[in-house]
Amino acid sequence: MTSFPNALSPLRIGQVTIPNRIVRTAHVTMLGMDAKSGVSERLIAYHEARARGGVGLTILEICSGHPSSPAPLMAINPGLVEGYRQLVERIRPHGMRLFQQLWHGGHHAKPLDGSAPWSASDIPSPRLGIAARPMTRSMITEAIDSYVLGAGAARKGGIDGVEVHAAHGYLIQQFLSPITNRRTDDYGGPLENRMRLLLEVLAAVREEVGAGFPVGVRVGPDMVEGGFGADECLTLVRTLESKGLIDFVDLSQGSYFTIPKIVGAMHEPSGYQLDHSVPIAAVTDLPTIVTGRFRTLEEAEQIIRLGQADCVSMVRATIADPDLVNKTRQGRISEVRPCIACNQACIGSQLAGKPGLGCTVNPAVGHEAKRSEEGIPPAKETRRVLVVGGGPAGMEAARIAALRGHEVILCEADKDLGGKLRLARKAPFRAAIGDVAAWLESELFRLGVQIDLSTYVDADDLEAYSPDAVVVATGALPRSDGFRLGNPGSPLAEGNWRPLTSFDVFTRPLDAGNGPFVVEDDIGHYEGIAVAEYLLQAGAEVLYVTRHSSLAPLMEPALSSGPAFDRLSSNARFRLFTGSSISKFDAENIEIKTAESVAASVGAGTAVLVTHAAPNYELLESAEEKGFKCQIVGDARSPRFLESAMRDGRFAGMRV
Ligand code: SF4
Repeated sequence: MTSFPNALSPLRIGQVTIPNRIVRTAHVTMLGMDAKSGVSERLIAYHEARARGGVGLTILEICSGHPSSPAPLMAINPGLVEGYRQLVERIRPHGMRLFQQLWHGGHHAKPLDGSAPWSASDIPSPRLGIAARPMTRSMITEAIDSYVLGAGAARKGGIDGVEVHAAHGYLIQQFLSPITNRRTDDYGGPLENRMRLLLEVLAAVREEVGAGFPVGVRVGPDMVEGGFGADECLTLVRTLESKGLIDFVDLSQGSYFTIPKIVGAMHEPSGYQLDHSVPIAAVTDLPTIVTGRFRTLEEAEQIIRLGQADCVSMVRATIADPDLVNKTRQGRISEVRPCIACNQACIGSQLAGKPGLGCTVNPAVGHEAKRSEEGIPPAKETRRVLVVGGGPAGMEAARIAALRGHEVILCEADKDLGGKLRLARKAPFRAAIGDVAAWLESELFRLGVQIDLSTYVDADDLEAYSPDAVVVATGALPRSDGFRLGNPGSPLAEGNWRPLTSFDVFTRPLDAGNGPFVVEDDIGHYEGIAVAEYLLQAGAEVLYVTRHSSLAPLMEPALSSGPAFDRLSSNARFRLFTGSSISKFDAENIEIKTAESVAASVGAGTAVLVTHAAPNYELLESAEEKGFKCQIVGDARSPRFLESAMRDGRFAGMRV
């Protein structure tokens, strides 16, 4: 057992006691969208898994009480109360408490009747780009009533408390921020007026739920120049406390103008919001919650011990591993599956318009009832399973097969496990991506998988292992033919000249003097950024050429392209050419065909082509010819991204 006297101690909020200080603050899952009430079996199973895993408090995703602001949970839906009751019944036995976040999206929400979004003023949402309708007094009254409706439904349904969302650029922060509030009435102008809507909402909610029922607020600076700053936020918190309107303060920064600040990706350090949240938390005696990419109970323990806050939000960490709290409490820290802050299958998927919630490193997320780890059935008969390839797909396949009780041997041609993750983690700000490889490796040792490193396996070697089943996880190889999607009829290969690949950049000694390095990114994912930052770190000059109209557009939903662009463009040795490609290259000159169809000569330099790799399935074909029962997974099946590799590995491990 491991001791975390602060993080695992109970805390009273209003009349409710939460069993420990680990909070899952509100985050959209959309797992209930297929249910009439918005509370589906999938949503219940998702929260139940985290309750079982030891979380102290979950604040449920946004609930709206008005058709001008559709949400996953709608208080105008009469079935919501019954949905809550079913959820509460399943959560109660585990001790986790449930609060409901009350929300109106303001100019980010599209009203159900097709009318213009509501807001303080006519400033369009950076998300929708539609000018909003400045709210009249009667619209303000309707909005206040909508929060009351949500609070009443939560209380009737057995939910333990409510939180009014006044952060992240939604309706109430649109009133708080001078950027979006241009009103000249008593809701605009000085802070005293801009905070009026929040005060009225909280007073009305309090009247609805009565004394003692926990009512809190989520607030934070919007991180926009001229917007709602930390100083005003501090004054706001003092005012709310002095008026007795709230029982807790949940701090989180950013708005849709600064959205990467809300859910910081891998480039942000653990606790990246503390600089702003701790000074605000310091002005109140009420319980406080802070957020900011926390991943371990050790981090939470330290924050609470130092008096920086009372509770710590760990959403992504407990998406990746629902059992984080209990595993840590039991001293099984190395078994905690790490969130790598990739933002791809959770918020990234949602911002890309895909329904539901997933996790790159945990294929069970969103499918807890069918795929949770405790529910993995033991194999009916023990087989000897040979996994060839120790990248993420192979390691996950081996892990799941071993969990099911099979005898598993994993062969890796390299001297280390990890596959492409070992290279990816070399890039600046990407070290966390290696954590999942380290976790998989540690789990394989724990589960007794035989690991043969520096062991190349071809079809002739298979018989020596006498496997009942073979999993081919041999990955992908860099293309050597210069093929690129952006210019399919014109491969980037001139005579004997070949551009370097990402693999070359990360594995060969680098001479920054061989520059400039002209990096053509044919994919638009993170690989090009990783190559560029790695080269810049080594002192090289980098000309980044891409067929896309912006830097790494596939990483935009994961909130990573913008911060990467800011870092790269602030480096004087970096230049970006969008809508462009390398048109010629040889020993003396590299030529770039720019968006304006102008040929720009770079002179002598080094070309790097970041393009889709070629699947390496040779072993599958030869092994099947010899009669072995095979499955192929990960990049060997088709080069994709980490989420697909982990999912392939999991399914293969379940099938053997
Ligand atoms: Fe963490 Fe990535 Fe999973 Fe999101 S998808 S929870 S950021 S590992």
